[in-house]
Amino acid sequence: MAFTGTTRKVTAHLTQNEALSFEKSAPGKKGYKLAPLDVPEADASALLGDSVRSNEPMLPELSEIEIIRHFTRLSTWNYAIDLGMYPLGSCTMKYNPRVNEFVSRLEGIAEAHPYQPEALSQGLLEIIKLLQDCLLDITGMHAITLQPAAGAHGEFTGILLARAWHESKGNPRKTILIPDSAHGTNPATAASCGYQIINLKSNEQGGVDVAALAEIVNEDTAAMMLTNPSTIGVFEHEIHKIADVLHAKGALLYMDGANMNALVGKTRPGDFGVDVMHLNLHKTFSTPHGGGGPGSGPVACKDFLEPFLPTPVLAQGPDGLLHWNYDRPQSVGRVRMLYGNFGMFVRALAYILANGPDGLRQTTEDAVLNANYIRKKLEDVYELPYPTASMHEVVFSDKRQVKNRVKTGDIAKRLIDYGFHPYTTSFPLIVPGALMIEPTESESREELDLFIDAMRQIAREAEENPELVTSAPHSTRISRLDETTAARKPVLRWHKPVVRWKTPGPNDPVEIGTPAKEW
Ligand SMILES: *Cc1c(COP(=O)(O)O)cnc(C)c1O
Repeated sequence: MAFTGTTRKVTAHLTQNEALSFEKSAPGKKGYKLAPLDVPEADASALLGDSVRSNEPMLPELSEIEIIRHFTRLSTWNYAIDLGMYPLGSCTMKYNPRVNEFVSRLEGIAEAHPYQPEALSQGLLEIIKLLQDCLLDITGMHAITLQPAAGAHGEFTGILLARAWHESKGNPRKTILIPDSAHGTNPATAASCGYQIINLKSNEQGGVDVAALAEIVNEDTAAMMLTNPSTIGVFEHEIHKIADVLHAKGALLYMDGANMNALVGKTRPGDFGVDVMHLNLHKTFSTPHGGGGPGSGPVACKDFLEPFLPTPVLAQGPDGLLHWNYDRPQSVGRVRMLYGNFGMFVRALAYILANGPDGLRQTTEDAVLNANYIRKKLEDVYELPYPTASMHEVVFSDKRQVKNRVKTGDIAKRLIDYGFHPYTTSFPLIVPGALMIEPTESESREELDLFIDAMRQIAREAEENPELVTSAPHSTRISRLDETTAARKPVLRWHKPVVRWKTPGPNDPVEIGTPAKEW
């Protein structure tokens, strides 16, 4: 209570400052100062013709400190891996080491121009080469492209390779097999590449039923897309047999490598029969993830798919210099123009080199240990739908809490009150009311214990005071949104508020989907 006065003052102060940048705008305010023009003024319309706009854009006019405070304040309303554990299953939200940031900001790297001549880009090309070699070593594959900008983009590229290979043999084939535990991007990829999807039911262990698979694979099967470990966090022990069944019918095995954080340094997809796969550098290899920043989804393949890789590919000439080779008649073409995400390559390479082979193996072991620690400490209060041993993530269900009408989404929202980002809710789809928890290796024993305490406390609340959980979060600026309307009718444009300087209290509902009449 002693702090009430101070808190009030801070709140009042924030209320004034929380105004959006448009509301604070006043004509003539500036965040920059330019030197007077000392060259003749150019005639813009002579240069650009009709493209020159005649009216002024309606942009807020603010001083530098106002705009800095605006964005810094917005950043504090968010959650970040730099604030605490981010156990979003399947997303591998690991810490982004600061040494990665340091090297990616070095001048020759950060200021490089995409059209810089190859002769002046040898160091940059060397970074690409070294990263490619490391990733090939880690995956046991033969050739690789760094073009795809995300995991989903990598899937698309990988299935294009499979299609091109089948076409080169005279028949693109018709179907792609996908287990029912797969990430939604897998069927989306298969459909985008012109294939029909055949859904495979998982067995009681959460894996592929090899006997059932053998009955389904035929001369129409182009490939199977498999996530290993699966989204249940279970390693596919019969992966070799799965590969054999597919290969016997001329079909390919695509591996969704989003869960490579459970395998790096322990086993290699290239050694267990995978033909083509993608990696998510923004998951497994510690580059920043989320917030709309660039991702990176390299695709690695076996030798026989190499001729189809996106053009250009990196090559080394007889002079020892690296260059881009465009002479690729069988290539699927480009899947992107420029490497705007080059900084991600630098960060991933820094992560790989800083850890070294032993460090990467240790990382994998720690990630698996952390997930199993959480599993052991929570399995008496949350239902485990699959008893199979967990790898880097553990999936519970809300079966016990649903009796009190508390669902996975409620538990996740209550977790926010305890200072944690929610886990992944309601995925994978084969587990009704899934709680998918992936701690990654970044977390200390102390942080894991805090998380476990919070989860146990919420389980108790679900028994004793379910209302508290189903109405959470209680500590955030904005509580529950109407999630459907927020997704279907998002308000993406600023609306002039009628009443200024009034901020909603933590319990005031903020309607998303209708123009904000009041703040
Ligand atoms: C994250 C993820 C993807 C998609 O990767 P993006 O980089 O988000 O496009 C695909 N499959 C699985 C299993 C994933 O977890």
